[in-house]
Amino acid sequence: MIIKEYDLRISKIIQETHDTKTFRINFNDEFSFEPGQFINLTLDILQNGEVKQLTRQYSISSSPTKKNYIDLTIKKMANGIMSNYIVDNSTIGDKIKIKGPYGMFTFKDDVKKAVFIAGGSGISSLISMIRYIADKNLDVDVTLLFSNKTPKDIIFRSELDELKEKKFNIINTVTRYNGDEWDGEIGRINKEMIRKYCDLDSLFYICGLPEMVDSVRKELETLGIEKARVKFEKY
Ligand SMILES: Cc1cc2nc3c(=O)[nH]c(=O)nc-3n(C[C@H](O)[C@H](O)[C@H](O)COP(=O)(O)OP(=O)(O)OC[C@H]3O[C@@H](n4cnc5c(N)ncnc54)[C@H](O)[C@@H]3O)c2cc1C
Repeated sequence: MIIKEYDLRISKIIQETHDTKTFRINFNDEFSFEPGQFINLTLDILQNGEVKQLTRQYSISSSPTKKNYIDLTIKKMANGIMSNYIVDNSTIGDKIKIKGPYGMFTFKDDVKKAVFIAGGSGISSLISMIRYIADKNLDVDVTLLFSNKTPKDIIFRSELDELKEKKFNIINTVTRYNGDEWDGEIGRINKEMIRKYCDLDSLFYICGLPEMVDSVRKELETLGIEKARVKFEKY
């Protein structure tokens, strides 16, 4: 992959949940990347009357089969500068700088059984892989375990429900069950949940905040899954 820098504009914004938006960025030419890769996003941010240039990493949530645009799905983080700024202030037409693609946390076409484990915004890189598998109709046995605080935090919920109707094994869990109608799991992803839903011979991909990734890695270790079959990306 060739790493390049681009000056582009936001072409579409999708409100995904109460605190998460997807930003679509169109390219003049084709942009090649592998499912799971990320870009560096640089924005001019107005803070206390001063313009500051900030850079953060964001996974590409669209599939590489879409050649002329990428989607970035960004969730607000408590007291976070960039995530809050872009979700609250950015509008269609705003200028942004992108550099990439980067990353080794990628899905390869020869994988036959994949378990994707996501926490919150960690779904961004994994949905790219899942969309890619669906778009290319790859013969992959896919399970997604997706953990969120409450049902209203589930990003891509309706798309995931549609994927469930196809061959995808999608399991949602909520860690702060609030009494809403809910037919998924309750509690953090643990070894019991992994054993219940996943083929332990799979390749495991984990993505989310560091604490969640480390905790799932430990659970996989206690299940005897060797490190070579566990790929992860920490946000
Ligand atoms: C490879 C990669 C891919 C990523 N992809 C995505 C993605 O697809 N979607 C997504 O939403 N995010 C993604 N992230 C996370 C993203 O890069 C940012 O880290 C995130 O948006 C927060 O940035 P921020 O500027 O809002 O927060 P920051 O201002 O950088 O703050 C981050 C956290 O640190 C805390 N903090 C800040 N300063 C201090 C301090 N002085 N003391 C204590 N705590 C402090 C804040 O409260 C906040 O919780 C990815 C990260 C990586 C590494």
